Order: sequence, then C-alpha cells, then structure tokens
Amino acid sequence: MKDYRVEPGQKVDLKAWRPAETSQFDGDKEQAKKKIAELNTKLDQLQEMLYAEHKHRLLVILQGMDTSGKDGVIRAVFEGVNPQGVKVASFKAPTPVELDHDYLWRVHPHVPGRGEIVIFNRSHYEDVLVVRVHNLVPPAIWKRRYDHINAFEQMLADEGVTILKFFLHISPEEQKERLLARLEEPAKRWKFNPGDLEERKLWPAYQEAYEEVLSRTSQKKAPWYIIPSDKKWYRNLVIAGILVETLENLKMQYPASIKENEINQYRQLLAAA
Ligand code: AMP
Ligand code: MG
Repeated sequence: MKDYRVEPGQKVDLKAWRPAETSQFDGDKEQAKKKIAELNTKLDQLQEMLYAEHKHRLLVILQGMDTSGKDGVIRAVFEGVNPQGVKVASFKAPTPVELDHDYLWRVHPHVPGRGEIVIFNRSHYEDVLVVRVHNLVPPAIWKRRYDHINAFEQMLADEGVTILKFFLHISPEEQKERLLARLEEPAKRWKFNPGDLEERKLWPAYQEAYEEVLSRTSQKKAPWYIIPSDKKWYRNLVIAGILVETLENLKMQYPASIKENEINQYRQLLAAA
C-alpha cells in the first residue's frame, strides 16, 4: 500500500496516477468483498482495543471530487465496527458564524480524543480547494494556508494523533457515469445536485488545486494516500487495508487489568452474592 502514499516533498502530477488500476490485489471483485469483510472484523477488534487502551487517537481525512465515494467509504470500510467507537464530522459550506472565525476554528473541536477514531468527510482542505477554485478569498490569503495546515497537523501528530489522509482519485468519465446513475436510478436521485454539473466544468482547476495540496501537505506523520477509486471495491479494499495496518503498527495492548489473586477473590464474592 506504500505505492499509494505521497512522500513528503514529492511533486504530484495526477495524470500519472491511474484511477482505475487494481494492481495490488490478485483476485476479482467477489474475492475482494470477502477480504473487505475480514478487514471489517479486524477493524472492529482494533477499534475496541483502541478504546480500551485509551492512549491513541486516529484521525482519517477523506477528500475527493463529487461522487468520488467519501460516503461510500465510510459505509463500507466501517461496516461492522461498533457505532459507538467511530465519529464522523462532515464539513459543508461554512455557516456565517464559522465564516466569522479562522478556517481551522470549526475543525479543531472535532479532532479525536484518546481512544477515539474520527473520520472527516471533507475537511480544512476545502479552504485551499473550493475556496481557491471559486476565488472565495484572494490568492494571497489561501496561499498562506498550506503552511498553517502543515503546522496544525504537525501539532496534532506531536500530541499523539495518528493522521491518515485519503484522496479518492476518480476519472472524469467515471464521474459522468456516477452522475448519470444518480439521475437514472430513483433511489439515488435525491443525491443529484444540479450544482455538481457546474463543479464538473471546473474539473481541471480542481485537479490543479488537488495537485498542490498533495505535493505540499503530505508529511511523514500526516501522509496523503492517492487511492485509485474508479472501482469501488478496490478503493474500499485499499483503504481498509491501510487502516488495519496502521492500527496494528500501534502495538496496542489491553490496559493492565486485575491480578490473578484478585480474580479469585471476586469469584468468591460473586459466588456468595
Ligand atoms: P457534500 O459533501 O456533497 O455534502 O457538499 C458539501 C459542499 O460544501 C461541497 O460543495 C463543498 O465544496 C462545500 N464546502 C465544504 N467546505 C467548504 C468551505 N470551507 N468553503 C466553501 N465551501 C465548502
Ligand atoms: Mg456533493
């Protein structure tokens, strides 16, 4: 999975990253689904240990173009994980109160505490993506933000937050298919937003904005992964794999528990109760 990680300082040209590739898995879609189910179970166990140990914190950031599958990843990758153990924070267009503050103000309260996993569905990166593409603030202002964001995430990492950032990379052709499906399938129609067609026209500007994000904000302790996302099963498989590997590498342990002689004592108390 290292193949998909952007190394610090690596210059990203998205045209060189293929959204439809599936090279890290030998099997077909059905085999991938079995593998994802296994990873779901592992993730559930790892989440429980994370909660029990009350030491580590995991922040997962999801970014991608419309229809790239941010909601789909949350549903598929965390299927079977205790709903009490995972929080999702979704960042939409800022409210007037949020706009009255700095752009990290609304984000910081949602970062995970000890024992928690938090998923950001969009994030502070919107403040150098949509904000840049739509000229919502002057260039001089958004251009400073890469440094702020790196410092903010470095601070979180220094304080013990494990950060993973996933860019769900799709092709414009795949987006067209998915937008069409939203029109054609009655159960998906509610998701169709005519505004997405306007955004689609800005595809090249968004790709350029993403390239700058990926090139400038992938840090050792807060890496970006570019996830080939034209195939949903592959996208889910790769992300689930990276999450499980990352949590396993934390070498977590259940907290020090009651001693053997105490267990006997409690057994006797319970027997007498
Ligand atoms: P969705 O994720 O489809 O529910 O859409 C959320 C919308 O909110 C997207 O169009 C984002 O670009 C927009 N959004 C999120 N953060 C910001 C921001 N900081 N400034 C402007 N628009 C934003
Ligand atoms: Mg949308």
